[in-house]
Amino acid sequence: MNLQDLTHIKNLIDTPRYSVIVSHRNPDGDAIGSSLALAHFLQKKGHTVHIVFPSEYPPLFQFLVEDVDVSIYDLHSDAIKPKLKMADVIFALDFNALDRIDRMGEFIHGLTCPKVMIDHHIDPEPFAEYAFWRESASSTAELVYDLMKEGEYMRFMDPQIATSIMCGILTDTGSLSYSVSPEVLVKVAELLKSGVDYRELQDKIFNSWSAKYLKLLGHCLSNRMELLDEHQTGIIHLTKSDYADFDIQRGDTEGIVNYLLKLQEVTIAVFITEQPNIIKFSFRSKGDFSVAAMAAAHFKGGGHVNASGGFMHSSLEAAIRKVKDVIKNYPQLSKSEIQIP
Ligand code: 5GP
Ligand code: MN
Repeated sequence: MNLQDLTHIKNLIDTPRYSVIVSHRNPDGDAIGSSLALAHFLQKKGHTVHIVFPSEYPPLFQFLVEDVDVSIYDLHSDAIKPKLKMADVIFALDFNALDRIDRMGEFIHGLTCPKVMIDHHIDPEPFAEYAFWRESASSTAELVYDLMKEGEYMRFMDPQIATSIMCGILTDTGSLSYSVSPEVLVKVAELLKSGVDYRELQDKIFNSWSAKYLKLLGHCLSNRMELLDEHQTGIIHLTKSDYADFDIQRGDTEGIVNYLLKLQEVTIAVFITEQPNIIKFSFRSKGDFSVAAMAAAHFKGGGHVNASGGFMHSSLEAAIRKVKDVIKNYPQLSKSEIQIP
């Protein structure tokens, strides 16, 4: 699998066809923004486009889902399977291993149509014939921009596409606070010139919380936060009964893990949730400590250097114990090891 296969991908784009775009489970702003941006672009190129997400997206992003056929595999797999079988090409956005899309991955694995991966996560698996993959990209949405720019399609850029791309960039960079390069800021400027209403988009993404979310955040910080001062680590956990008490739905816990990093002494942030059948982990870090490597080595997961996740089949208590044991075995996190420059 060539990881920068622009020529073949251009050939697929330049011939109008039935294109299905798939992205990962629990789609976030980048999964949704990049998928919608590519969909609008392909529709302008004459394609018939259908987007499929494995599970539901947060209502927050509903404003982006316009003028494109979007469906949810968890809810309508019987109706979606024939569409996937009919696809001339499948674009896989913002994930790089079929197990990130669960049962839909098994189904797609059996299809013979060409697949195109557009992604920025480390260690891509070779499930696609073609790829546009760059670990250096802030977001998959930035890669959709790059694809349009380097493929010489910028005449198709419009406010709708630009807004979708900007949404992916803003959400994957914490509103341009990390994974920021000079290049991405230039692209952001270009997107603004293309007609993004930046203030409105900021309000829609970052200033549209519900009181329920704010109360849940308060509960996490007041009652569920534990600091391992000796190991530069903060942990927040949520129990099954928290899920019931706070009526927590998919997506409602998004972003909570990041609050731990606001503490100066915290380098590693861990968010542990007790799901119906598994324990799910979200990891975040500051600096060079790779939580992707930690997730891969100990929690069957992966992701990026500073943002990763994983899971475990165990009790919540055992999962919290395991995190503490793992953290304690990284000498670079031990306070006594800190080198003051
Ligand atoms: P989040 O904590 O927001 O759910 O996930 C952060 C990042 O970690 C995701 O972008 C994804 O790259 C990665 N990630 C989360 N959960 C898993 C998992 O179970 N397996 C793998 N390989 N990566 C994950
Ligand atoms: Mn992403």
